[in-house]
Amino acid sequence: MDGYAFHAQDRHARADTGASGYLTIDLAALRRNYRKLSLAVAPAAAAAVVKADAYGLGAEPVSRSLHAQGCRHFFVAQLMEAVELKPRLPNDTQLFVLNGLQPGAEESCADAGIVPVLNSLEQFRRWSLAAQKLGRVLPAVVQFDTGMSRLGVAPQERTALAAELKDCRNIEILFIMSHLACADEMDNGQNAEQLAEMHRIAAEFPDLDVCFANSGGVFLGGDYHGVLARPGIALYGGAPSAGKPNPMEPVVRLEVAVIQTRTVPAGTRIGYGGAHVASSEMRLATIAGGYADGFPRSLSGRGAVFHAGVRLPIVGRVSMDSITVDVTALPDGALSLGSLVEVFGPHQTLEDVAEAAGTISYEILTGLGRRYDRRYR
Ligand SMILES: *Cc1c(COP(=O)(O)O)cnc(C)c1O
Repeated sequence: MDGYAFHAQDRHARADTGASGYLTIDLAALRRNYRKLSLAVAPAAAAAVVKADAYGLGAEPVSRSLHAQGCRHFFVAQLMEAVELKPRLPNDTQLFVLNGLQPGAEESCADAGIVPVLNSLEQFRRWSLAAQKLGRVLPAVVQFDTGMSRLGVAPQERTALAAELKDCRNIEILFIMSHLACADEMDNGQNAEQLAEMHRIAAEFPDLDVCFANSGGVFLGGDYHGVLARPGIALYGGAPSAGKPNPMEPVVRLEVAVIQTRTVPAGTRIGYGGAHVASSEMRLATIAGGYADGFPRSLSGRGAVFHAGVRLPIVGRVSMDSITVDVTALPDGALSLGSLVEVFGPHQTLEDVAEAAGTISYEILTGLGRRYDRRYR
């Protein structure tokens, strides 16, 4: 289907690796998404948010691929993620830690050449103390809370921070930032409120550049871009704005192998708790993915996978390592041991699966787990 630059692989699992699920990550599509976002925010630059192992897709291959496309700023959530990623990236990149630093982590952050996002006066003071101790000027980003009440310097700390910053000689602020709570809802009034607050902050810290938009923010228009945007989900093909056509290209394809098939008569109970009872004769296939592989248990009796374009509904409860699907709609014998079914790909988007599970694409991607054979194209 449209947007899938890569071709469906064999319809059967490969025996050599023993894997029973295949996660294909299309790095060319990832780079095209980056390019699209870069063009949308120009003349601002686009960073990449690669926290949580690049939303489950692999922080190293994703970051290296984006670097080749010109990306130089990468955001993770935790210092440990940055410490692992830093030596695997070219030297001309900057890595930022969104969650800030735990007390005592300042020196390892400084030693590794990683830039913390300082979320409070306390974190600012600790970073300055570390700079003093090391006899160096240390770089930092300061995040302000503009209305999400999650992370960032609180309004009542701003005056004190401005005063301390004025006298501080050992911290170099690279830029200031904030995060939008409702950027995926284009019509939500909170966006404009947060933007107005960001403008007030920018006026209080007049010499500093602003970094503001996440994926949704990119599509709210130029006012939200500052000098650097921070998209995550849109890079990976997730929809940046709810209820609008998704302008991004799919990046991830997931196929899972059939591990058993059977035909059951009417009245047969299927899966844990006997939660589904066959109302007529059914053909079933059990596939090798369960909640440990990122199929939320909320997909029990909801949602579907596809084979040869045919929708195969999930029946009964999602198990840890498998789910059972109704394959009655397929010709007898169409599926056998090792056949692959599509979880997301040409017939079903990541957003479709998320919606069926009652969650968001972010949670599906970051939950994918470690048991798939990952292939990068
Ligand atoms: C996760 C995150 C992002 C990326 O958000 P998307 O909606 O995935 O684009 C940007 N900024 C901050 C502070 C984040 O926590």
